Amino acid sequence: MGFSIHHQPGLVKIFPLRAGRVVVAKIELPRIPQLQKIIDMDTKNVTKSYTNGEVTIVWQSAKCTHSGNCVRNNSDVFQPKERPWIKPEASSTEKIVNAVNKCPSGALTYYYNEK
Ligand code: SF4
Repeated sequence: MGFSIHHQPGLVKIFPLRAGRVVVAKIELPRIPQLQKIIDMDTKNVTKSYTNGEVTIVWQSAKCTHSGNCVRNNSDVFQPKERPWIKPEASSTEKIVNAVNKCPSGALTYYYNEK
Protein backbone atom coordinates (compact mmCIF):
# COMPACT_ATOMS: atom_id res chain seq x y z
CA MET A 1 0.00 0.00 0.00
CA GLY A 2 1.31 3.46 -0.88
CA PHE A 3 1.90 5.64 2.07
CA SER A 4 2.66 9.32 2.39
CA ILE A 5 2.38 11.94 5.02
CA HIS A 6 1.48 15.50 4.33
CA HIS A 7 2.41 17.58 7.29
CA GLN A 8 2.30 21.32 7.39
CA PRO A 9 4.06 22.05 10.65
CA GLY A 10 1.57 22.66 13.35
CA LEU A 11 -1.53 22.48 11.21
CA VAL A 12 -2.87 19.18 9.90
CA LYS A 13 -1.55 15.69 9.42
CA ILE A 14 -3.15 13.77 6.59
CA PHE A 15 -2.27 10.25 5.53
CA PRO A 16 -3.94 7.38 3.70
CA LEU A 17 -5.53 4.57 5.62
CA ARG A 18 -5.83 2.48 2.49
CA ALA A 19 -4.49 3.01 -0.99
CA GLY A 20 -6.43 5.73 -2.73
CA ARG A 21 -8.19 6.88 0.38
CA VAL A 22 -6.95 9.85 2.32
CA VAL A 23 -8.40 10.90 5.61
CA VAL A 24 -7.70 13.63 8.06
CA ALA A 25 -6.11 11.61 10.77
CA LYS A 26 -5.07 14.16 13.26
CA ILE A 27 -5.58 17.84 13.74
CA GLU A 28 -3.13 19.52 16.00
CA LEU A 29 -3.29 22.94 17.49
CA PRO A 30 -1.00 25.27 15.61
CA ARG A 31 2.50 25.46 16.91
CA ILE A 32 2.88 28.88 15.39
CA PRO A 33 2.85 31.18 18.45
CA GLN A 34 1.07 34.04 16.71
CA LEU A 35 -1.72 31.77 15.45
CA GLN A 36 -2.00 30.14 18.84
CA LYS A 37 -2.46 33.57 20.40
CA ILE A 38 -5.32 34.35 18.02
CA ILE A 39 -7.01 31.04 18.84
CA ASP A 40 -6.52 31.65 22.53
CA MET A 41 -8.08 35.07 22.20
CA ASP A 42 -11.09 33.58 20.45
CA THR A 43 -11.65 30.66 22.78
CA LYS A 44 -10.95 32.50 26.01
CA ASN A 45 -12.78 35.60 26.89
CA VAL A 46 -9.87 37.99 26.66
CA THR A 47 -10.45 41.65 27.29
CA LYS A 48 -7.77 44.02 26.06
CA SER A 49 -7.44 47.77 26.25
CA TYR A 50 -5.59 50.13 23.96
CA THR A 51 -5.30 53.88 24.40
CA ASN A 52 -4.01 56.89 22.53
CA GLY A 53 -3.92 58.83 25.79
CA GLU A 54 -7.29 60.44 25.17
CA VAL A 55 -9.61 57.54 24.54
CA THR A 56 -9.31 53.86 25.46
CA ILE A 57 -10.56 51.14 23.15
CA VAL A 58 -11.69 47.96 24.89
CA TRP A 59 -11.94 44.73 22.91
CA GLN A 60 -13.63 41.58 24.22
CA SER A 61 -12.55 38.62 22.14
CA ALA A 62 -15.48 36.37 23.00
CA LYS A 63 -17.95 38.87 21.56
CA CYS A 64 -16.09 39.46 18.31
CA THR A 65 -17.92 38.03 15.29
CA HIS A 66 -15.09 38.94 12.90
CA SER A 67 -17.37 41.07 10.76
CA GLY A 68 -14.41 43.24 9.78
CA ASN A 69 -16.36 46.47 10.27
CA CYS A 70 -13.62 47.94 12.41
CA VAL A 71 -11.00 47.27 9.75
CA ARG A 72 -13.18 48.68 6.99
CA ASN A 73 -13.96 51.80 9.02
CA ASN A 74 -10.46 52.51 10.29
CA SER A 75 -7.69 50.37 8.85
CA ASP A 76 -5.06 52.66 10.37
CA VAL A 77 -6.08 51.56 13.84
CA PHE A 78 -7.50 48.06 13.35
CA GLN A 79 -4.87 45.82 11.82
CA PRO A 80 -5.70 42.16 12.51
CA LYS A 81 -2.47 40.88 11.00
CA GLU A 82 -0.35 42.94 13.37
CA ARG A 83 0.38 42.58 17.07
CA PRO A 84 -0.93 44.46 18.85
CA TRP A 85 -3.74 44.45 16.34
CA ILE A 86 -5.23 47.71 17.59
CA LYS A 87 -3.07 50.79 17.15
CA PRO A 88 -4.96 53.74 18.68
CA GLU A 89 -2.12 56.19 18.19
CA ALA A 90 -2.58 55.89 14.42
CA SER A 91 -5.78 57.90 14.26
CA SER A 92 -7.75 60.71 15.80
CA THR A 93 -10.06 60.05 18.73
CA GLU A 94 -13.05 61.08 16.64
CA LYS A 95 -12.28 58.50 13.96
CA ILE A 96 -11.67 55.83 16.58
CA VAL A 97 -15.01 56.48 18.27
CA ASN A 98 -16.74 56.46 14.89
CA ALA A 99 -15.29 53.03 14.03
CA VAL A 100 -15.93 51.54 17.46
CA ASN A 101 -19.56 52.65 17.30
CA LYS A 102 -19.96 50.56 14.14
CA CYS A 103 -18.87 47.31 15.76
CA PRO A 104 -22.01 45.17 15.41
CA SER A 105 -21.27 42.71 18.21
CA GLY A 106 -20.34 44.98 21.08
CA ALA A 107 -16.86 43.48 21.15
CA LEU A 108 -15.45 46.98 20.81
CA THR A 109 -16.29 49.71 23.27
CA TYR A 110 -14.47 52.84 24.36
CA TYR A 111 -14.24 55.30 27.18
CA TYR A 112 -12.61 58.70 27.43
CA ASN A 113 -9.61 58.82 29.72
CA GLU A 114 -9.79 61.01 32.77
CA LYS A 115 -7.82 64.22 32.40
S1 SF4 B 1 -16.15 45.33 14.20
FE1 SF4 B 1 -16.32 44.30 16.18
S2 SF4 B 1 -17.13 42.29 15.69
FE2 SF4 B 1 -16.33 43.13 13.79
S3 SF4 B 1 -14.21 42.39 13.69
FE3 SF4 B 1 -14.15 44.40 14.66
S4 SF4 B 1 -14.22 43.93 16.83
FE4 SF4 B 1 -14.90 42.09 15.80
